[in-house]
Amino acid sequence: MRILIKNGMLIDPDLGLEAVGNLYIENGKIVCMKTEAGISGVMPIWGEEPFETDSVTQIEAAGKWVVPGLIDLHVHFREPGQEYKEDIFTGCKAAAKGGFTTVCCMPNTRPVIDSPEVVKYIDEKAKRANGVHVLSVGSITEGQRGKNLADIHGMCQTQTRCRELTGKGICAISEDGRSVMNAGMMLRGIWEGRKNGLIAFSHTEDDSLAGTGIGEALIVARDIMLAKEADSPIHLCHISTAGSLEIIRKAKAEGIPVTAETGPHYFVLDKSCAGNDGNKKMNPPLRTKEDVAAVKRALQDGTLDVIATDHAPHSREEKECGYEKALNGVVGLETSFAVSYTFLVRTGVLTPLELIDKMSCKPAEILGLDRGILAAGKTADIAIIDIEKCFQIKGEDFVSKGKNSAFLGMKVYGEILYTIIDGRIVYAAE
Ligand SMILES: [Zn+2]
Repeated sequence: MRILIKNGMLIDPDLGLEAVGNLYIENGKIVCMKTEAGISGVMPIWGEEPFETDSVTQIEAAGKWVVPGLIDLHVHFREPGQEYKEDIFTGCKAAAKGGFTTVCCMPNTRPVIDSPEVVKYIDEKAKRANGVHVLSVGSITEGQRGKNLADIHGMCQTQTRCRELTGKGICAISEDGRSVMNAGMMLRGIWEGRKNGLIAFSHTEDDSLAGTGIGEALIVARDIMLAKEADSPIHLCHISTAGSLEIIRKAKAEGIPVTAETGPHYFVLDKSCAGNDGNKKMNPPLRTKEDVAAVKRALQDGTLDVIATDHAPHSREEKECGYEKALNGVVGLETSFAVSYTFLVRTGVLTPLELIDKMSCKPAEILGLDRGILAAGKTADIAIIDIEKCFQIKGEDFVSKGKNSAFLGMKVYGEILYTIIDGRIVYAAE
């Protein structure tokens, strides 16, 4: 299949490129990128000469963004075990509709992703879905019980799509959903991960202080110290407080290889908007206005590297029952770009290049994945976005089984028009 994307605003943080041009895609790869001549620091033509343009699928992209496919380090697809909330098929559909070409599935499924068998099961299911790259995150301990290390080496050796892309059967290890509360066990997990070339994703919450800012900061500090001790990089999930960010900022200044993510709800909403709305309940919970401002500052100064969704679907009954009774978690794949673009780029907090860096390039870098770049010779995982299109977020428009968005009713900008994976159009807006 050959695709020509014409006249789009090509945005590539790796090249520092933000210019109008054409992308030529053939046999799954970007074969040529042609920008207007004379743009400083950028060659007008990258790669081979463009192919003849009559026998190709043409996409007119004037005024639209053309970006490397978005990568989400943090989703819950609920399969195996809780398919009534979401399954791999519907999760992948939601991802593609949101412009995501790669997602990392957290291990708190039933059974837990703690063995080669479960890793294989998810991979087989994902192969029958729409082509979104589904990478599993293995648990650190068996059954996420915190007692014995999981078969990290076995999971890492499993033949999966992830292995074809990264050389490893799983993309990371994590206990997400809870923390490994025994520090010694966590350290052993980080070591075992390092031996297998796997980074640990820290859930950053002390179980005994669940939902509190101090509980988050304690594990942030602990896991940074453990990573330093193990001489291993570490990635910190869903950071939500000013206190945690101060610790991360200091660790980065010291040169400790720590990366950190936040989710759209933590830079848009604060706890005063929760009321009795179960759809505004997640873990960590919405914080204060000061924390929201601190998260934005940290995105701006690079203390926060990544925007991830923590896409966590639940059934209507589990969410529409008042704040107290509702389960933790919100969906995010279908709104992440628009919410982030609307509240970060349109307000001047981030530049377009910085936003795409946090939603594609940095996640790829953390995973050791050769994605997140638009250059000639790279695999064509691409999203095309109409940033002028305004829409209202409605649960009934979601293809995810989960309708539990914290942003229902909100008007945002940025509709995904196409999602292209391995040079194939897997999603096109109607
Ligand atoms: Zn999570």
